[in-house]
Formats: sequence, C-alpha cells, structure tokens
Amino acid sequence: MRKIIVQKFGGTSVADTEKIKNVAKTVIREKENGNDVVVVVSAMGHTTDYLVKMAHDLAPNPSGREMDMLLSTGEGVSIALLAIAIQAAGYEAVSFNAMQVGIMTENVHSKARIVDIKTEKLRKNLNEGKIIVVAGFQGVTEDGEITTLGRGGSDTSAVALAAALNAERCDIYTDVEGVYTTDPRVVPNASRLKEISYEEMLELAHAGANVLHPRSVETAKQFNVPLRVRSSFKLDNLGTLIVGVDKMEIYKPVAGVAADSSQARIVVCDVPDKPGSAATIFSKLAKENISVDMIIQSYPRKISNTNDIAFTIDSSDLAKTIATLDGIKADLNCGEIKVDDNIAKVSIVGAGMIDRPGIASTMFETLAEQGINIRMISTSEIKISCLVDKDKAQQAVKALHKVFELECDEVAEVKGTLPDV
Ligand code: ASP
Ligand code: MG
Repeated sequence: MRKIIVQKFGGTSVADTEKIKNVAKTVIREKENGNDVVVVVSAMGHTTDYLVKMAHDLAPNPSGREMDMLLSTGEGVSIALLAIAIQAAGYEAVSFNAMQVGIMTENVHSKARIVDIKTEKLRKNLNEGKIIVVAGFQGVTEDGEITTLGRGGSDTSAVALAAALNAERCDIYTDVEGVYTTDPRVVPNASRLKEISYEEMLELAHAGANVLHPRSVETAKQFNVPLRVRSSFKLDNLGTLIVGVDKMEIYKPVAGVAADSSQARIVVCDVPDKPGSAATIFSKLAKENISVDMIIQSYPRKISNTNDIAFTIDSSDLAKTIATLDGIKADLNCGEIKVDDNIAKVSIVGAGMIDRPGIASTMFETLAEQGINIRMISTSEIKISCLVDKDKAQQAVKALHKVFELECDEVAEVKGTLPDV
C-alpha cells in the first residue's frame, strides 16, 4: 500500500501566489516520492488577523457563530488557490473544506475540538491519484454549523487528519527550521533540536513556544503520529522530529526555555475559606470555556477566615473572565478582584529533570541573580514555570538558556519570523 504523508503549510508559506507556487512544488515533490499526499493549509498571510480586525471594527464582542463563519473563509481562499497551482503544474488536485470532508467538531465556537474525521471521500480521491488540499482550522458540527479550532488550529487539523488516515508522518512546514531550545529571535545562538518528545513539546507549546498549536501535539501523542517541524524553504533540512519519550536518549535535564507574554493574572481576594469556593470560581470559568493555567491559593487569614485565590489565564479571555467573575462575586461573597496583565510566564522544560534534584533551585537562583522577582511558581514533572514582570521576560529567557547550557556554537540562521499562534 502507498504511504500517506500529511503536509501542513502555515499562513506565511502561502502569503502570496509566488509562495503558493513554491508550496505546490514541495507538495509535488512528496507525490513524486511515491506517496499519497494530503495537504492542509492556513489562510494567506495575516488574513485571519485582518478578518478579526474588521469584525471588531463593527462590534466590541462579535458573536462566536459569526466569527467562525467569517474566519473560516480565509482558509477557503488558500485551498482553492493551492489546488489551482498544483493543477497548473500538471498534477491532479482537489480542494475540500471541513464540511465537505466531514471534520466533525463539538458544538463550541472559536475553539472547538475535533471529535471525528470522515475518511471515505479522502480515500476515494487519493485512490484516484489526486493530491488533496484540505482547509485547516475549521470544522463542522453535527447540525452543520461551521466552527473553528482556535487560533493556530491548522496544525491540529493536519495532525488529526494524519491520525484518521493512519498516515506515515505529519510534516509541519514553517519558516523556521525546526524547534529550537528557545526563540532564536531572543537568543541568536539557540540550538535546533533534532528530536524532542511529545511530552516536552507539549509543555513548551503551552509555555509559549509559538511553533506548534498545543492541541496538535496532544493529538499526535494520543495517536502516536510522528510529527516533523521543518522549513518550507530548506527542503533538505529535516527539521525537528517529535516522537514518544521512550524513543529518545536524554542527555540534558532541560530541553528548552520559553516565555509566554499573553497571560494575565487574576487575584480573587478574601474568598471565604470553606468547601466549594474554588469549585464555584473554576466551574463557572470552565462553563465559559476559559482555560486556567497557574493557580495559587494563599494560606487562610485567621480573623476573617478568608484566603486569596490567584490564577492566570490567556489575555484573550480577560474580558470574558472579568464578566464571569463579576457575575458570581455576590454568591462567592469575596472581596476585590485584581487584574494584572503586565506579566509573562517563563518556563524551563525537559524530560531529563525527572528525579534530578537542583533544577528548580538553579532556575530560582538564576532569576535572583538577574534581580528578577518571581510572582508565582508552578511545576509539573517536566516543567517549572515562573511568573515574572513582562519587561523582564527576555532577560530571564537569556539567563536560563545560558545556565542550562543550551547554546550552540553557531548563530542560528533565522529567516522571516516565527508563525503567530
Ligand atoms: N488561520 C488561522 C489563524 O491565523 C489558523 C492557522 O493559521 O493555523 O489562526
Ligand atoms: Mg500557525
């Protein structure tokens, strides 16, 4: 049986017709290798941002349904153009949107999860020898409503398609050469990782490494899809392979450092110290589909029998979070709600830190030496994150990258910009 390769090209790779021609060549090259090819594309360049801006010019808080209707049009343009470019080069190609394929999602607007992908139409067209171009980022509910998977969601579309089709590999083409130990724009001698585990990549993606949509890595891990991040321009460079941790040799305790400046911290002050307080806050936020990251509850104050609950969210959810908390303030019987979005989360990630003491203390000492104050700390088995002032984030990344010996001798050659996720 022929192997299926899923390729994904982001907005910068299809930003204009010249670039689309270039993508067509890369697609054809894979087809010429004797593989069946399914290509997933994002909207051209900054189309999605532009569409978002237009909607916000009309309304401060446009409805989720209409936003999804609007944003899904971006990918509609790029799939047809790429199919035209492939056909013009003499190959058979067909484009499909999510509705035509049957990329089924839950009934949630703006960050729906994929629940199922129908493969009949895809298999039929692959068997006819066609290259298939599928719209990333979008899905459809059982009722035929259009949804989107969240900004940067085309990566997830690609991995989910690879899983559904039992593909040999999913190649994410981008304008950087792979996954680096940190953002090479901040640290020019960051090293490219040849391999990284799903677990580490997932933590890095959540920690703000803007290379892959976190959910795409989750899906790859769940279905064991080998994932490669590679350059659209340097086709002979194999980029970074993302695989299971069991398949890797681990040399260093820390694999990468990342910063996420798109976070906001909320402190709900004077929350009664009794069962159900935290449940009230976080179940309401969950109902609104707001993801919470770090959570800290302070030690209770004796006289008032209250404590403070602090947590972080993505800044894009800030308005919704404040509205939600205002709605439960009376029920909760809490005090003031404080908001601070002048913060950033800096994280170190590595499967090699398991059972190796001293990594956290090295991180804290390094930040202290730089005079950087830590506002919150959270940890997982393979990650330590510190919340710091936003204007200190880059300094923190540089110092941590150095202390954990992640630099390489050469200065990384970085063309273009990292994709926005
Ligand atoms: N076009 C969408 C976005 O800009 C999806 C993607 O690029 O992956 O977020
Ligand atoms: Mg992207």
